[in-house]
Amino acid sequence: MSKEKKDKKISFIADCMLGTLAKRLRIFGYDTLYYTKIDDGDLVKIADIQNRVILTRDIKLTERKLAKSFIVINSDILENQVIQIEEEFGISLHGLPKISRCLVCNTELVKATKKDVIGKVPPFVFLRHRNFTYCPECNKYYWPGTHYKNTEVQMKRKAD
Ligand SMILES: [Zn+2]
Repeated sequence: MSKEKKDKKISFIADCMLGTLAKRLRIFGYDTLYYTKIDDGDLVKIADIQNRVILTRDIKLTERKLAKSFIVINSDILENQVIQIEEEFGISLHGLPKISRCLVCNTELVKATKKDVIGKVPPFVFLRHRNFTYCPECNKYYWPGTHYKNTEVQMKRKAD
């Protein structure tokens, strides 16, 4: 295996039933596509074109010709799903989140300075944090802390 290939991170596409698992993968920096609504045919096509591993609860989906790389997730329970992925790929989805990828749209976050976030984050957040990141796709700011695990807070802020 070439170094380039070895260093290249694995990427995923999750089916409609695995939204929470998809979010967990994003929290840990893994490029994971997820659509609340997508045709099975389109899903396997995207996986094939973009070289993504399909994560699915639906064995029928894996019988499609374009479904070349996939994992059938055995459980409905998130923690079991997480453990299955960890064992399957030798990765860790526990511990400190990475904050490198937008939880909502999967875009890679860019660094933002304290100056950038003036007036964009709540005052207590501004005062307590130094490191911020930004999603250029949905104009959202992230910072280290529990909010990253709680997307609802983010969504609320977006509506302001
Ligand atoms: Zn985003």
